[in-house]
Amino acid sequence: MNAPYPWLDAPWQRLLATRARPAQALLLAGPRGVGKSELAMVWAQALLCEAPLADGAACGQCAACHWFETGGHPDFRLVTLQEKTGKEGETRMATAIEVDQAREAVDFVQLSTYRAGFRVVLVDPADSLNLAAANALLKVLEEPPLNTVFVLVSDQPRRLLPTIRSRCTRLDIGLPPADRAAQWLTEQGVDDAVTLLALSGGTPLDAQRWADGSELDERRGVLEGLARPDRLDPVTLGERWKAVSPQTWHNVSYKWLGDLLAVKLQGSVQFNRDFSEVLAPLGRKADLAKLLALARMQANDGRTLTHPLNRALQLEAWLVQYRHVFD
Ligand SMILES: [Zn+2]
Repeated sequence: MNAPYPWLDAPWQRLLATRARPAQALLLAGPRGVGKSELAMVWAQALLCEAPLADGAACGQCAACHWFETGGHPDFRLVTLQEKTGKEGETRMATAIEVDQAREAVDFVQLSTYRAGFRVVLVDPADSLNLAAANALLKVLEEPPLNTVFVLVSDQPRRLLPTIRSRCTRLDIGLPPADRAAQWLTEQGVDDAVTLLALSGGTPLDAQRWADGSELDERRGVLEGLARPDRLDPVTLGERWKAVSPQTWHNVSYKWLGDLLAVKLQGSVQFNRDFSEVLAPLGRKADLAKLLALARMQANDGRTLTHPLNRALQLEAWLVQYRHVFD
């Protein structure tokens, strides 16, 4: 089995070299959208495989590999954000990994293994552990049972408890070089790799997601609205954009504000290069203090991406404030 993405080849080889004596607590850290989760999964499979290849990678054919690939390996646990059902039956993603989930993982590692090999607990995203969950996990990280491997994945390792960080062997995954990422995207059939990479801050998987989905059309719609603050009608747009997912909205509007700030402060566009001509005069016109206030508010919103009760009204309020940036 190869590295999940070509730019992960070096960290993958480093992991494989430790297959016989793996770190009992590994922290895979780095920006989002570079494939850390996928790397963690192939590493977990490599550890559980019962007929690993000469380089230590999983064979993809043994019983253990089969169970892993179908999501049922008895010596593997994935601790991640769960879907929750709200009062009105709507589903949303939890914003934290809860203490019950951590306790379940702790109980799991106290049992004897089903198979003779390793037992793997993957915590992803580890920075979403709430304090109680982190503390529960910390106890087993201090003295992991024999043959137990914890793999923690994090975009924001600074948000982990320092005591958890200090227990882990850290492997940093960086952004791939731009030309390599662009080449890969082109190989995946993405047309405008360079623009999309800029849009996603250099992270190839985000760029691919943009290319795949209807998000790109939604983005264009939103940006065309934001491009004309003098003509923008908050009520109409609030109604229209309430259908855009909170993640997409946050991503698009946050980067737009980032570009306005970049124009203001550095004279150049960072993300939305296809809108450079619009952004340049807008950024110069914007009031810096109001723009910073709006960007700060948006950053806070991004930490809790949930469906508010009245989405249209929330967007409307945002748009009113956005319009004032250019008064
Ligand atoms: Zn195997």
